Amino acid sequence: MELTAAYAAIANNGQYIEPKLYTIVKDHEGNVILDNTVTESRQVIKPSTAFLLTDAMKDVVQSGTGSSVNFGNMTIAGKTGTTSDYNDVWFSGYTPYYTCSTWTGYDNNTKLRKGEERSLAKKLWRSVMSQIHEGLENRSFSQPADIVTATVCAKSGKLPNDALCGSTLKVEYFTPDTVPTETCDVHYQGTVCAYSAMPAAEGCPFAVTGVLEMAPENERILTGQTNDDGTASNICIHNAEFMAQPGADAVIEQQWLELELRNDQSQYSVKLAALQQQLEDATIAKAEAENRLATAVDETEKAEAQNAVNEADASIASINAQIAQLQAAQNAAVATMAQPESDTGAEG
Ligand SMILES: [Zn+2]
Ligand SMILES: [Zn+2]
Repeated sequence: MELTAAYAAIANNGQYIEPKLYTIVKDHEGNVILDNTVTESRQVIKPSTAFLLTDAMKDVVQSGTGSSVNFGNMTIAGKTGTTSDYNDVWFSGYTPYYTCSTWTGYDNNTKLRKGEERSLAKKLWRSVMSQIHEGLENRSFSQPADIVTATVCAKSGKLPNDALCGSTLKVEYFTPDTVPTETCDVHYQGTVCAYSAMPAAEGCPFAVTGVLEMAPENERILTGQTNDDGTASNICIHNAEFMAQPGADAVIEQQWLELELRNDQSQYSVKLAALQQQLEDATIAKAEAENRLATAVDETEKAEAQNAVNEADASIASINAQIAQLQAAQNAAVATMAQPESDTGAEG
């Protein structure tokens, strides 16, 4: 009841209404004994905040984990909830008419089994809500006057750079004070540091000209790509200060090796995949030839089939040798990388 009342407050433009189980109690003569008709309500979050939450939770139902609760063409917002290891599964959601929460789980805390059991909360929610809404026409949630829209780059959430953000544009709702003012810092064109896939610092030895799609700001912070003040870094590490450090040359040399290995690595994967495909084709050809050999009706057919089997065997052996050679070269490259102090003659 608490959870449903909380969701209902979001559905109700941020106004919380105390849930009640009855409105009035009368005796057999019709005298009112208990009157519970007066509703207590209070604003707990701003209407604009409630609207933005609703908009986010509409996505959950339209294209996210809650899509199976849809019925008719009713506008729905909601959120799934799961405790560790599926002891409990919830769905709380609302339409412009009603709010409902469902819980599924075992009284003895047995975990819900994979599949059907884990989607029961949503199934139950849909079943109850579709019946309550019978005959009600679809409506949209009311939009407060202080909500505005802005077109942003979907990757960065910032103002798009028309030339670079291309087809990743998205119209989003904002309160006037939260409309982005910064331009996209994910899509970039200019000098790029080939080692770090970041915009190149002045004097970066890996600088090339190109376009780049960087990780969004919050991801860069999570992965430690940050400045001293904790903000997301938007330039490579090879600045003047870095280059002036004692030992910078050795680090740069090591990074050249690493970059070379990375390039080799991607070539290695492509080559290996091609060889594996050839091996698969040769194996199929051999099986077909063996089949023909087994069903050959005369000596000529038999000889031809045997020939095909031998040819397939030869090409399988050759492909396997090429794979072994490729893997040996790869292992040697990785071993070289692990011992950077030995002179490997790498010059980038
Ligand atoms: Zn962008
Ligand atoms: Zn750099």
